Amino acid sequence: MRRYAVVGSPVRHSRSPWLHGFFARRTQRDILYAALQPRDTFAACCGEFFGGGGSGLNITLPYKADALEFAESASAFARRCGAANVLKREADGGIRAYNTDGSGLLRDLQQQGGDPAGKNVLLLGAGGAARAAAHALADAAPARLWICNRTAARAEQLAAACGGCARAVSLEEAAADAHGGAHLVINATSAGHGGNGNNGNEGGGDIALPPRIFGGAALAYDLSYGAAAQPFLRAAAAGGASRAADGMGMLVWQAALSFAIWEGVLPPAQAAIRQLRGN
Ligand code: NAP
Repeated sequence: MRRYAVVGSPVRHSRSPWLHGFFARRTQRDILYAALQPRDTFAACCGEFFGGGGSGLNITLPYKADALEFAESASAFARRCGAANVLKREADGGIRAYNTDGSGLLRDLQQQGGDPAGKNVLLLGAGGAARAAAHALADAAPARLWICNRTAARAEQLAAACGGCARAVSLEEAAADAHGGAHLVINATSAGHGGNGNNGNEGGGDIALPPRIFGGAALAYDLSYGAAAQPFLRAAAAGGASRAADGMGMLVWQAALSFAIWEGVLPPAQAAIRQLRGN
């Protein structure tokens, strides 16, 4: 039986074991999936897992950059992001790194009617998740991609790395540039967690939004989910966004795309999202 796991710290809250169990049942694949918290170093944990015959790992906070370093090869997208959330033991025995966070976000945006192609997009944040989001959004050919971060220098670095239509802006510049014409505003900050960047579900601090930023039929999307998404989604509704979504769909899609990399079949992500949302 092929063995997979998620590695993180903390990892107890992870939905990955449930998701991959669901995918395995729906695709009739015989797999085992565990949650691992490194006792020693991340590299020792991965070495032990793959040395013991494991086939693949999901990687969550705080190890996504370490995962890229651990792998012997990496997809071009993972290299651009400087982070990996998937490791796979290839047929030749080598460990290859992938990043499905960006493609997971795009899949969910498309499902939500928020395809960024040709649209004006404002991305808030420039941390690990924002990097994957920014590169994926830039690849999806938006009309404009504004990146705004509390620490402006990080937004500038990210916009420069994305190139093309990406531009680092302050909240004021975003408002002036957009003239109420942003079609998609994505919160990739950890402000909703109280700014600590954890994947927990605690509610947290407010996030500032540029005045009059939303255009008609604009979608507000928060990468976090549960209580942590609420401060941004509430501010977006008050600020004129006509639609809102949290990051539960992205979470499911990044897992589904990991499963496809490992098992060669795309599992039913929308069915998993419906189950998690209880409908
Ligand atoms: P991170 O690397 O720690 O980055 C945190 C970002 O949030 C930075 O840009 C930081 O700005 C900003 N920030 C923190 N507190 C803030 C505040 N009070 N006001 C304004 N900006 C603030 O964290 P991450 O890994 O990118 O995670 C970001 C979010 O994405 C989290 O909510 C996480 O749960 C979510 N996420 C979701 C998925 C999914 O599958 N749905 C996957 C990954 C992450 P500075 O640069 O100024 O510090």
